[in-house]
Amino acid sequence: MRNKKNLNMPSHYEIFNYWKDKKITNNLDIIRASDEQNGILVVDDWGEPSCWGCGKLVKYLYQYKQYDKWLEQEDFKKIWNYKEIKSKFNRCHILANQFGGSTDVNNMFLLCSHCHGESPDNTNSKIFFAWILNRRKDYEMGYNFHVMTKIFYDYSAMLNLNINEFTNFCINLSNIDRKKLAKRCGSNFGYVTYSSIAGYMVDGFLEHSQKKDDLKILKGKQLSLKL
Ligand SMILES: [Zn+2]
Repeated sequence: MRNKKNLNMPSHYEIFNYWKDKKITNNLDIIRASDEQNGILVVDDWGEPSCWGCGKLVKYLYQYKQYDKWLEQEDFKKIWNYKEIKSKFNRCHILANQFGGSTDVNNMFLLCSHCHGESPDNTNSKIFFAWILNRRKDYEMGYNFHVMTKIFYDYSAMLNLNINEFTNFCINLSNIDRKKLAKRCGSNFGYVTYSSIAGYMVDGFLEHSQKKDDLKILKGKQLSLKL
């Protein structure tokens, strides 16, 4: 039965192909991306698949040797039907299956398993889209702002960091420096935890503060030598 049901399911690419030029308005209507009315694009980046709820990326795709070629050729069918995309993103019903929701592309949405598990199963598709818009506000690249912020503050409090200086450090850090720092944290089964991300930022800040102190000491020494 399960296989038979899956046979009727549109592929990940077919679902992408339907939603790639759609956006969700604040009134929870689905309109074309080219429409002047404001709305949030369902698919942020055609060439970089991410969960349509939390924005989580599938990092193994970018390591795949054919990926750059597919991207250059704009072969979105190969990208969206790539095995890692299929295994990481679930094809979810907008109007729930148990309430008669069909497997037509306009009733299917691509979500990571975490978002799928938390998504609403209702008889009104607007509930689903309201949940998606809220999810977009709270998450970026698979991480919840509120959870991340709390861990940053918790670490700051426990390590007696000056929260203003730490916040400025985080905001002003260049992408290159951020990537350098990110190399200091590993992943648990392919997932980089909130605590690791906050951890490497704290680590970088402590080092940065230390350097500043050294600089002050050095300046002081130079001054005393001159005197
Ligand atoms: Zn997600």
